[in-house]
Amino acid sequence: REMNFEDKTRGSKQAYEQAKSVIPGGVTANIKHFAPHPIIMDQATGSQLTDVDGNNYIDYLLCYGALILGHGHEAVKDAVYKQMGQCGSFVFGAPHNLEYQMAQKLVDLFPGMDQIRFTNSGLEATLLGIRLAQAYNGKGKVAKFEGHYHGGYDQMLVSVNPDMEQAGEVNQPNAVAESSGMSDYHLEHTVVLPFNDIEATKKILRARQDEISAVILEPVQGGFIPADESFMKGLREVTEELGIVLIFDEVKTGFRLNVGGAQSLYGVEPDLTALGKVLGGGFPVGALGGKIELMDLMSPERGQDILTSGGSQQATDRALFHSGTYNGHPTVLAAGLATIEELEKPGVMDDLLRKTEYLRNELENLYDRYSIPMQTIGMGSIFNIVFTDQAVKNYRDLSQADMNLRKQLDYELLDLGIYTKPGNRYSMSTVHSDEDIQATIDAHEQAIQRLR
Ligand code: PMP
Repeated sequence: REMNFEDKTRGSKQAYEQAKSVIPGGVTANIKHFAPHPIIMDQATGSQLTDVDGNNYIDYLLCYGALILGHGHEAVKDAVYKQMGQCGSFVFGAPHNLEYQMAQKLVDLFPGMDQIRFTNSGLEATLLGIRLAQAYNGKGKVAKFEGHYHGGYDQMLVSVNPDMEQAGEVNQPNAVAESSGMSDYHLEHTVVLPFNDIEATKKILRARQDEISAVILEPVQGGFIPADESFMKGLREVTEELGIVLIFDEVKTGFRLNVGGAQSLYGVEPDLTALGKVLGGGFPVGALGGKIELMDLMSPERGQDILTSGGSQQATDRALFHSGTYNGHPTVLAAGLATIEELEKPGVMDDLLRKTEYLRNELENLYDRYSIPMQTIGMGSIFNIVFTDQAVKNYRDLSQADMNLRKQLDYELLDLGIYTKPGNRYSMSTVHSDEDIQATIDAHEQAIQRLR
């Protein structure tokens, strides 16, 4: 099988070897690497990717979920071209009207948002949220859940994918560093909680309520393990009671469950919300939205900012600092607005959710016929294929699943023209056709037969 992969991807291997000399590991993000070498892409349209060797794939990675309308959607292209034409440039470097339009759109869609700031990535949005929470209540630590990802910076690069040997007690997880080069400071200032265990979570929060400024979570862990409803309600209640800011990281869930995020689906309002991915329509973006009493701490009307004040004011008297050269980039916002407007058209989201459910059911039936214990886990338009018959509610449960089988299967599927990074979740797009879905089910059956 390896032989097949290597035969079909000779061009990728060559391109990878070349890239490796000037790019560490040949990839611009560590997660994009896989053995023996990543597949180097050349073109993409709709649901399809084409690599440098001319192999075609049905894409289920979709830029880690960002491309909900598939590749190169005409409505998004039109909006981008129109915006560049109107602007006459690519970017103003000054405020412009699209910022207001997008902010108003998000405030209308997300119950937990009174105001918005734009960033260039999801990472920057969660980072800003944490700083705001600390400024708001003056406490210095942040609690996150084991297995949850919020961007690759030191404070959140804790217990995302910890080794079981280091992970500690299930109801009182250790803070485990996920990268070399992280200072102990971040381990000491990040408290790790067990997802979907409200009693254990409450206990830890109560014990450390004077230190913990914010709790951040992915309402759907990794985009595919949903929070239990009672867990979400309990978390909102306890954080409110203890004066802890609740931050929803909806970078994955923001537009993939519905257009108003997990907060509208669960009926639970966070204090702050981070967005990204789909919001940029295929361009780099992030946003932080939230309650006015927090968001307004950033308003420059509150005091001078650090770059112009000459140090005459105490940091605590100044507006909370937030900046970014390309924040609110007009091309990006035009693409994002066009994407949201597509998703808001009658039937579009329903159809996407229906397709996803159909694929999940058919895959489950297929593996069942082959007596392989597999379940699809997910919510909305994202799911994962997990080889276990046990319930999966959190990181510990997930780590019990057969990841080796999953990866073997994914390499066969790559060979059969189904693309995701081996082991990754599946994201669906509005443009995956019935034929794509049938081809995917057929490819899974062939892959199963090959592995027997
Ligand atoms: N939070 C979540 C839930 C994410 O899925 C991601 C990206 N995978 C991020 C934050 C970071 O976003 P970005 O990669 O745009 O910095």
